Amino acid sequence: MEEKFLYDSFSSEQQNFLQEVLALGIRFMSGEARDHKVLNYLTNEECIELVSSELPRKGKSLTDLFSHLQMISKYSIAQNDPKYLAFPDTGNSVASIAADILVSFLNQNLIAVDRSAPIASFIETQLILWLRQLVGYPTCELKDLPNLSNVGGMWTSGGNMSNHIAILAALHHKFPGLKKKGLSSLAKRPAIVLAKGVEHFSFKGAAEVLGLGSDGLLWVESNSDYTTNPDAVRFELDHLPEDVEPFMVVAVAGNCRTTSIDSISSLRKICDEYGLWLHVDACHGGSLLFSDTLRSKVAGIEESDSVSLDPHKGMFVTYASSYVLFRQPEILTVFSRYPDKVRESGCFDLGLITPFYGSRGFASLKLWLLIQHFGLEGLKKAVEFREVTYRQVIEVLSKTNYFLFLHQPMFYRSAFVFYPQVVRKYVEENQLKGRKELKTLVKKYTQRFSEELYRRGNVIFDLYSLQDLGNKIGFGIADKYPVMGVSVGHPFLSEKNLKEVEAEIRQVGMVFEEQMLKEIMMLTNGDYSAENESATKISGPAGW
Ligand SMILES: *Cc1c(COP(=O)(O)O)cnc(C)c1O
Repeated sequence: MEEKFLYDSFSSEQQNFLQEVLALGIRFMSGEARDHKVLNYLTNEECIELVSSELPRKGKSLTDLFSHLQMISKYSIAQNDPKYLAFPDTGNSVASIAADILVSFLNQNLIAVDRSAPIASFIETQLILWLRQLVGYPTCELKDLPNLSNVGGMWTSGGNMSNHIAILAALHHKFPGLKKKGLSSLAKRPAIVLAKGVEHFSFKGAAEVLGLGSDGLLWVESNSDYTTNPDAVRFELDHLPEDVEPFMVVAVAGNCRTTSIDSISSLRKICDEYGLWLHVDACHGGSLLFSDTLRSKVAGIEESDSVSLDPHKGMFVTYASSYVLFRQPEILTVFSRYPDKVRESGCFDLGLITPFYGSRGFASLKLWLLIQHFGLEGLKKAVEFREVTYRQVIEVLSKTNYFLFLHQPMFYRSAFVFYPQVVRKYVEENQLKGRKELKTLVKKYTQRFSEELYRRGNVIFDLYSLQDLGNKIGFGIADKYPVMGVSVGHPFLSEKNLKEVEAEIRQVGMVFEEQMLKEIMMLTNGDYSAENESATKISGPAGW
């Protein structure tokens, strides 16, 4: 057989191919490989048409492979593009991408040191110690680290998994016999207290998957500013059902819909009184740790028992990059197959303290190299500049007068509906407030505007569902609306970018503003019946 698929040392043709692929990646980032659009929109049917094929019988040439890769790049969405404003996952750090490329070549296995990941295990451990320091957890220098039981954190594939592991750790901490006897040995149902409407879907998912059941979640009210209401948490804890024993309270440091941040210290105080574990979901808020001034927004995070961080969201690292950390570092040893080994000096096999994972790659090199590249000073600048840029983007959106924001700006994400000022004025002047057709129209035009913008592919907002907790739209707080989200992941947007964003919004908004106003006018004539379009199928994960 011709040896052309696998090589210990690549032929010159293969080396050229690898370099071409690298150049393609660079052209994707710059926009050339995607016609300078954020997205070359295709319907699902069109995607399937392009992709659907039989299992290939004969192998293809590198040239053919390259054509595939070009096609895939052309139709991929560019989260790194400054006009992609749906999520903050820019993944555009040159250090992170460089590390990602090298990681494929190195192919280390972080399950163990010997024979698997000799130096990589220590890079990852050092990174975790740095992250502990940033959060404000007790830490030490790598050279003084006695053993694995003092690492106190782990890489995971995402915040979803980080939250799962934090729940498991809290559960085992509260019920030490669990590892042997299982959940059925518990006299009462273990439960997590968290606020409705600001939570990430991972908590319900975890409760269901980990055997707590969705009944193991005690939901409390949130405030009108999309934060957990500490009084509601306290009330819940004072009025528990007979057969329930809570073990964890969740604080959200930057929720996925509005990036609002809970009062961590209020929740800490309650947890201390009731003997509960405080988990801080800082998947979004984690980047604020790099700025002395912004850090005050997550004050008290160092007092939490565990924290989830998601550098692949808002910290320029490509997927997958998430970390879960524990104030008491030895917590993770509960999951070890060999608890004694973990406490031996000289044992640094990370696979002994990483539940759910066996073999896994060296993804941690990406964040490690990024931190080396920026330094703390660079990261501080980046997150502080982003705060300024976020306010500029909000300003651009506000001055079009097309949108109604559902909350005050937080730190990089805002939720809003399409409800132009001229329409609001008309409603006011003609005493149409409270007419339920209005609600339908806001939902309908928010979806239409967002969908049209998305298909055009020049500027992209998120679309998800959200309760109007501040009652800004005026129909109470119970209803969920399809809302758009603007997320600013880039620290810098050029003047040109901002102008292009504004022009695109105006071009699309103008048309819908006129249509919406016409429909509203029909309301005063009484010859209007709004068709309900609220059953949207394109609402994204932020509102799941
Ligand atoms: C995104 C997010 C998660 C889940 O993170 P993934 O990286 O998508 O798995 C958890 N919590 C919050 C608040 C999030 O925003």
